[in-house]
Amino acid sequence: MPDTSFYEPFAAKKTCPVCLSRKNVIPVLYGFPSPKMFRDADAGKIALGGCVIGDYHPTRYCKKDHLEF
Ligand SMILES: [Zn+2]
Repeated sequence: MPDTSFYEPFAAKKTCPVCLSRKNVIPVLYGFPSPKMFRDADAGKIALGGCVIGDYHPTRYCKKDHLEF
């Protein structure tokens, strides 16, 4: 379990905590995906978070570092 208080400011700024860039950061969306969400996910515009059971839901994903935060 990561320290989510570390990630929160980065998620708010949409900046990856590893590469410190916004260039490869996309939003993570939850819930049952619509056809448009599937297309956006295939195009790399969003990440699908699925149905996550847990205290912390990452809202951003860095495509370069494969990190959710
Ligand atoms: Zn990154």
